[in-house]
Amino acid sequence: MLKGIAASPGIGIGKVYKLADEEPVIDRSVIGEAAVEHEIARLETAVAQSKRQLEVLLQNVLRSGSKDAADILEAHLMILEDPMLQDNTVSGIRDRKIKAENAFSTAVDGLTAVFEQIEDPYLRERAADLKDVGSRVLKNLLGIPIKDVSSLEEAVILVAEDITPSQMAAADKRYVKGIVAEKGGLTSHTAILARMHEIPAVLGCNNAMAAMQHGEIAAVDGTQGIVEIQLQEDRIAVLEEAIRRQAEAKTALLKIKNDPSETPDGHRIELFANIGKPEDVAIALENGAEGVGLFRTEFLFMDRSSEPGEEEQFQSYRQAAEGMAGKTVIIRTLDAGGDKDIPYLGLPKEENPFLGWRAIRICLDRTDLFRTQLRAILRASAYGSIWIMYPMIASLKELRKANDVLGEVKNQLELEGIPYDKGIKAGIMVEIPSAAVMADQLIREADFFSIGTNDLTQYALAVDRGNGKVSHLYDSFHPAVLRLIQNTISAARKEGKTVGMCGELAGSPLAAVLLLGMGLEEFSMSPSAILKIKKIVRSIDLAYARAVVQKVMALEEPEEIKAYLGRILKDLKLDYLLE
Ligand code: PEP
Ligand code: MG
Repeated sequence: MLKGIAASPGIGIGKVYKLADEEPVIDRSVIGEAAVEHEIARLETAVAQSKRQLEVLLQNVLRSGSKDAADILEAHLMILEDPMLQDNTVSGIRDRKIKAENAFSTAVDGLTAVFEQIEDPYLRERAADLKDVGSRVLKNLLGIPIKDVSSLEEAVILVAEDITPSQMAAADKRYVKGIVAEKGGLTSHTAILARMHEIPAVLGCNNAMAAMQHGEIAAVDGTQGIVEIQLQEDRIAVLEEAIRRQAEAKTALLKIKNDPSETPDGHRIELFANIGKPEDVAIALENGAEGVGLFRTEFLFMDRSSEPGEEEQFQSYRQAAEGMAGKTVIIRTLDAGGDKDIPYLGLPKEENPFLGWRAIRICLDRTDLFRTQLRAILRASAYGSIWIMYPMIASLKELRKANDVLGEVKNQLELEGIPYDKGIKAGIMVEIPSAAVMADQLIREADFFSIGTNDLTQYALAVDRGNGKVSHLYDSFHPAVLRLIQNTISAARKEGKTVGMCGELAGSPLAAVLLLGMGLEEFSMSPSAILKIKKIVRSIDLAYARAVVQKVMALEEPEEIKAYLGRILKDLKLDYLLE
């Protein structure tokens, strides 16, 4: 059994599918004149085969609606169609009398080296695409099977050192029953995507690649952070029964999808979804979301080689707003940096990236990026109910500066006669302890708060949220974090402003009673958690939840707090929601 971070709940069984390919070995021997044409023909066959593969992949990806993955594949096809690579290879075969794979890899290396030396980050990025295409053609030349997650035919558990968002986007989700990766934590993008698609995931799982064999049956328990290998028949039967129960619980929860999220004593709560792409709106609505509490716009900037322009962003935001049909959509401005590297932005390597140049700090320096995004959001606000949210605000000065830029962009739109929602709300994420401590001052100039417990926890406890070595110290139920949350909620309520939460804690069934009692009004979470939280909201009087807060805030250790909250759910026969 392997252990890691429980990153996306549920149990899944399937065949291990390791995302690492056999490395090509290149034959560097010299060939005779007679073999030259044969080698050129081999090259042509491999290029044609690669082209066919990419075209099939592109069709699959387009069908699943993933635009970024499609962009990458289109770029790869263009490289393949560029005659330079093939011409260089053919002259290598003819002039140096070498085999096709040798000439081809030399041609790829030569071109890659040229790209890698270019200053322009956009062109430098092309080197990675070239390497990717080169490796595909080489494998085809050598008859090495290419692992392709977009056309799976049986239930699999994806296992990798790290899984990139583009691999996740390309994977055929019908067959991915679990994810295991050596890297990544609870709030990494792989985890966020896994939860979005309800795929059980265990991340930060050291040694997974060495311990797991391609093709063997394995089980992922993403609730407990456990991976089981070498499964016996009887164990498989037990796990399959658990999966069946899981599916039944989900079906039962779907029955309350259209019921109001209201406590029995009549207090209405808003249950929103976190999304990363406009297409996620469909998943949000299927799970009964009453709005979007966090649109992580950095996903629009990732896995590509230059930033999306105003028009492209506008279309994405408009699509989300129209998809939610008048329900609130809170769009967070770019939160780059930290663990979210966006290579073409040229973010410097930093000693402490989480404490460095990230999020609003980048936007207030790179106002060109910020203005473009704000213009796109404002334009989209004419098509639905959009709110703007700034990430990583640490001081009033930053909030004021951000609002100044917003004011300027609004004036410009006004001058140009472009419509936007004049009453658009601009609020902030409270995810830095300084903001939580001075929430009473910040709320006077912010239209709303949304508490980001993922970062708030890491900064309050000085625990890197992605570092497996200290993950046992990362705990949002730590009394210090809870006090910061309570302070933030009280400050907003006193001022009569909306306060929500979009960090992972908002989707935790264990935390729901406590947050309800503290006065949280809007909970935003991965869509798959919404109905669980609704079930709890519909089962607990606000008056009772308030009493729970009193009790919890007097406790000293996170373990005591969680045990106490767990007992409450058990008494209500709701502890199955923790599975
Ligand atoms: C947070 O920090 O809680 C949050 C919601 O933002 P992200 O996870 O994108 O940093
Ligand atoms: Mg954050």
